[in-house]
Amino acid sequence: MTAVALVTTGNARARFAPPLAAALEGIGARLLPEGDDAAAEWVVMEDLPDGFDPARYPRARAVLALWAGIEAMLPAIPPDLPLVRLIDPEGLSAGMTEWVLGHVLRHHLGLDRYLGAAPHWDRRVPPLARERRVGVLGLGALGAASASALARVGFDVAGWSRSPKAIPGVASRCGPDGLRAVIARSGILVLLVPHTPETEGLMDAERLGWMPEGAALLNPGRGALVDEAALLAALGAGRPAAATLDTFRTEPLPPDHPFWSHPAVTITPHVASATRPDSAARAVAANIARARRGAPMEGLVDRARGY
Ligand code: NAP
Repeated sequence: MTAVALVTTGNARARFAPPLAAALEGIGARLLPEGDDAAAEWVVMEDLPDGFDPARYPRARAVLALWAGIEAMLPAIPPDLPLVRLIDPEGLSAGMTEWVLGHVLRHHLGLDRYLGAAPHWDRRVPPLARERRVGVLGLGALGAASASALARVGFDVAGWSRSPKAIPGVASRCGPDGLRAVIARSGILVLLVPHTPETEGLMDAERLGWMPEGAALLNPGRGALVDEAALLAALGAGRPAAATLDTFRTEPLPPDHPFWSHPAVTITPHVASATRPDSAARAVAANIARARRGAPMEGLVDRARGY
């Protein structure tokens, strides 16, 4: 019976081990007891522990991350050991889609106008979704699910990715021209590319300046996609006019960071989409089963691209 090790940090083992053991049983695999690593063919990693030593897993055939963003794990995994990021439509993608829909609808409907207690009969009728252009940078597991849901609500959606996509209701753009076109057309822009050397500081002063006046920027991707000083300056100029940020260069966001007190910035504390142990365990087990029957695993990381 193929053996699986679960690598965790803090007290995460208690949350992840029971559903993983159950899901593995369903595919004829077994979860090894903590510390009993030598027999492991598959290493499921909840997070990268300090001092992680891959030599403890001499029989490992792959490391399966329990997260989508693997940039911190990448340097610690030997190049000849495949690293697989989590693709979990039922958990990660569902959570991200809900966060994106909620925060896009807030900006679209101008909900903040109605949250004050002052008696104020402000009868501005918001546009319909089809009259609002939304852009999604990154059309992978999370970006495609979010863009597709936005399109189903009726938004005029365009997305940007490395390779072209065929997502119903979503205009697909690629390359530098596509990036500029998507940023320049989007009243609401969502960042869902991974953090790689190519996407580091993607939203710098120049690209923030391409946003339409009054636009909103949503960043549930990674803090490093945004030049924070440039964003603060851009907010002062109204391009964008508002930012909803879930991810930051330093997390937790330091208490004295200017984002906390900025009236146009909303902070959510990296909660856009968390790994749900039950659905993640099923996704990981299905991926191991795939590999065992010789099929390609979903979410295999391309080291040259960094995601
Ligand atoms: P993914 O499936 O790997 O998708 C990445 C997308 O970005 C793909 O469409 C890819 O294009 C595109 N892309 C990457 N580099 C690009 C480049 N240089 N130029 C153009 N397009 C580029 O990733 P995912 O599972 O959707 O996750 C996206 C990110 O969300 C993660 O990396 C993580 O940072 C973040 N995340 C955040 C949270 C949270 O709670 N805030 C939770 C989970 C994940 P191709 O499709 O053509 O390759």
